[in-house]
Amino acid sequence: MPDFANMSKNGMLTKIHTRIRSDPFTANYDLAGKELGRGKFAVVKKCIEKSTGKQYAAKFLRLRRKGEDCRKDILNEIAVLESAKLNPYVVALHEVYETSHDIVLVLECAAGGEIFNQCVGDSDEAFTEEDVIRLVKQILNGVAFLHRNNVVHLDLKPQNILLTSARPLGDIRIVDFGLSRRMDSITEVREILGTPEYVAPEILNYEPISTATDMWSIGVLVYFMLTGDSPFLGDNKQETFLNISQISVDYSEETFEGISPLAVDFIKTLLVKNPRVRATAEECLTHPWLCPVSRPHLLTTSSSSSSSSHCSSLDEPETSQSESEPESPAPSPEMAVIETYALLCPGKSELKTGRAAFSFSESPFPTRPEIKQELIC
Ligand code: ADP
Ligand code: MG
Repeated sequence: MPDFANMSKNGMLTKIHTRIRSDPFTANYDLAGKELGRGKFAVVKKCIEKSTGKQYAAKFLRLRRKGEDCRKDILNEIAVLESAKLNPYVVALHEVYETSHDIVLVLECAAGGEIFNQCVGDSDEAFTEEDVIRLVKQILNGVAFLHRNNVVHLDLKPQNILLTSARPLGDIRIVDFGLSRRMDSITEVREILGTPEYVAPEILNYEPISTATDMWSIGVLVYFMLTGDSPFLGDNKQETFLNISQISVDYSEETFEGISPLAVDFIKTLLVKNPRVRATAEECLTHPWLCPVSRPHLLTTSSSSSSSSHCSSLDEPETSQSESEPESPAPSPEMAVIETYALLCPGKSELKTGRAAFSFSESPFPTRPEIKQELIC
């Protein structure tokens, strides 16, 4: 149920339930030395809880970024993690600490790293199509859960999809909810941060944003996982944006050599310009590519065994199910900043049922050449 008192005007959640501890993080955890990763405003380090010996990932988020207080952004990230705690494919939040400079999110450690690494690795490390199928089902389960709860991630990319283990291939964990928004109320989003290769055409065109915006990113992600190529990546951002707006995608047999036609068909249901026509997460889960019983034409190995379960079950995966399922990766860098949007009530949208839509609160919006210049990376 939407908790409007818990939301600010821009779709960010403002109220959290997790106690923010003010005792020193280092009193309870030892840093294990190894840096697990870093993003634009965060560094993530492995740590060990002293009382249990358990391993976690500590995400250090600076409270001030570019001179601005970002506490509310961090609270939003925490609140989204809290709201998704029942889903095993969303990284679990263990504890939160605050110091004068940082907020530290103590997260479940996804020791297998980013799926990105296995998309661009040597061929013997690369995912098989069966791997990708298993991982994509998990990603879709996690994303379907978020969307059912009116949360959009808005930064789905291979760097934000992690693995519980790389070898043997484990399960996926979706991380980085820094850009996530609730879509229940009239909401203004001052800026949208996204990654050029993964942004949907509606973002570039200042058209309404919805759960379908995440689905575009999943289409890009799956393309990358299967081929190792980023479908829209150009020599520069402008070229990338042009490729996206023209839906210029290489579906050649050469690129998809050894990959089943059903996989290509699946991607084509997502890399669709009109968000109203784009497949939803729940629809994707019933696509024959992911559904063993209706997937007789797969050209590559067809092991998909008992664990592949029924395709249409999109309910929050039960723990046992989640533990038995695998995961997947994808790639991409840079950040794009796009202007002010407003989020309209979902019911007013013409999108498919259950989709909330953002649309612009203010005009004038720049014409396309001007937009290009405003995308700051
Ligand atoms: P940012 O918002 O700065 O992009 P992320 O949450 O994406 O921060 O974290 C940055 C990187 O740190 C990720 O891309 C990943 O490589 C690593 N990382 C984040 N969370 C975890 C985790 N729970 N377990 C292991 N590595 C993580
Ligand atoms: Mg990230």
